[in-house]
This record gives sequence, structure tokens and C-alpha cells, in this order.
Amino acid sequence: MTSPGLARRARSGVGRCAALAVILFTAGCFGSENHKELGEKDSIVVTIIYDNYEFDDRFKTACGFACVVTSGTDTVLFDTGGDGDLLLSNMSVSEFDPTDMDAVVISHIHADHTGGLDAFLRVNSDVDVFIPKTFPDWLKGRIRTLGARIIETEEPCKVCEKVWTTGVLNGRIDEQGLSVKTSSGLIVITGCAHPGILHMAQAAQRYAALPVKAVLGGFHLGGASASEIADLIHSLKELGVTRVAPCHCSGDQTRRLMSEAFGEGYLPSGAGARLVFAAQGRAQE
Ligand SMILES: [Zn+2]
Ligand SMILES: [Zn+2]
Repeated sequence: MTSPGLARRARSGVGRCAALAVILFTAGCFGSENHKELGEKDSIVVTIIYDNYEFDDRFKTACGFACVVTSGTDTVLFDTGGDGDLLLSNMSVSEFDPTDMDAVVISHIHADHTGGLDAFLRVNSDVDVFIPKTFPDWLKGRIRTLGARIIETEEPCKVCEKVWTTGVLNGRIDEQGLSVKTSSGLIVITGCAHPGILHMAQAAQRYAALPVKAVLGGFHLGGASASEIADLIHSLKELGVTRVAPCHCSGDQTRRLMSEAFGEGYLPSGAGARLVFAAQGRAQE
């Protein structure tokens, strides 16, 4: 699918965030026919395509993370897992077509998040790929060679109407998450959360001036102690978080303790999980 907006962006080559935000504001993102058929135009739907944990046994599991965020008519792929064949296979099971994606956002450089990008772009290169600007030149060159447009990010960046990046947070590994706006607050999605899930949620909240209601994705807490996880749970609740969906590198203990602490607000997740956030930011399934 093409549009004057995409064609214009294609001709303009690599853009900086600020410029892209203006272009997207006027041109908007494209729609997913899948999503229109679901009749969930007023919902935010996060479908976990690739994960260590199994949610739906039709999906294969492997170490890595990828999810698709659908909001209105916009469809964004966040991370690509570690293996392109598995990504595309699971995407097919989820009934998303790679060409449904309007944009790709990569959280950080690790191979279990970037490994499927090459295979994805071979099927659909008509996308903007939002990457931390510190990514190595060889990877930027590869993305360009496959025909996609690179958006190098540092500050929070608008991807489409309700979806922003958190900005790149510096840690041992530079990383950005997604910040998705609902009427009652933000949904923050992280790949590995190397800079810290709390730090990333706080950054999203500060920038959007909206409370964070839900956090999901990889929290990188496999080696955390029970007391460290308890402290984190306390801090997330203080921040206003009521919904959590830890998966990927979050660790079994984190999932168990968060399930106990958040009760109904704990959203079971893993490959094939489909988290629907209504206008009030409440997960329906
Ligand atoms: Zn990871
Ligand atoms: Zn990582």
C-alpha cells in the first residue's frame, strides 16, 4: 500500500523525529484491515507475536520479544524477536500480514529484538523504522539497503496518533519503549527494560504528563531478588500502575509476585496473548 504521505517520506530519506512528527501529524499512519474487521477502532490492542512464554499453543516460543500495537487505523510492530522465520510464522498465526504494519520500532540492539527485522523488511520495506540513534552504522545500512526509511530517535518521538516512543534511556544498554495513550493514561511497553522498567515508566509519564496505567513486555528481572521485586511493585503502584503483563526476560518469580500483588490487574501474557485496552484503559481480555 502506498500513499502520498509515505511516498513523500520515502523521497525525503532519513528524517529526524521532530520533522517526522510534523509529517505524521498531517499524513497520519495507515490502517490495518485486520483491525478494522475486528471492530475495535476505539481500543488499543497489543498482540504479543514473539515471546519466551507460551500463551496460545498455536504460537511458537523462543527467547525474544515482538508485539503488534493496533490503535484505531494504525498498526505498529514493536521489536522483531530473534528469528525472522519464527516472527513471520507467528505473525501469520495471529492473522496479521507484515504489510499491515505502518511502522516498526526497535527497542534496543540485542539480537533477540532485532533478529527478525531483516526477514520482516524483505516482505514489507515500506515502513519507517524507529531506532535509537546510537545503533551501529552496519545495521542502519542494512535497513536502508532493504528499502526502509530510518528514523533515528533520541527524544520521545511520535510514531502515529496515539503511539510514541519513550525516548532513548541510557543504561548499560540504550533502550526505548513505546508509550501508548488511552483516555485514562498510558500503556508503556518495553523490550527488555535494561534502563529499568520503573525508570522507563517514569520517563513516559513525565513526557506525556499522563499517569502510567499499564506496563507490559520484558522487565529484565530474571536475577532480581524477591525484595527487589516487591520494591518495584510498590513503586509501580505509587506511580498509578494497575495493570501489568510481564513476559520475555521478566522471570518466573516476577510473574508470580506481580500476579499476587496486582490480582485481576495481572494480565497473563506470552506468545499469542492479545491484550485489549478499552477507552478507560482497562484490559478486556
Ligand atoms: Zn531481550
Ligand atoms: Zn536486551
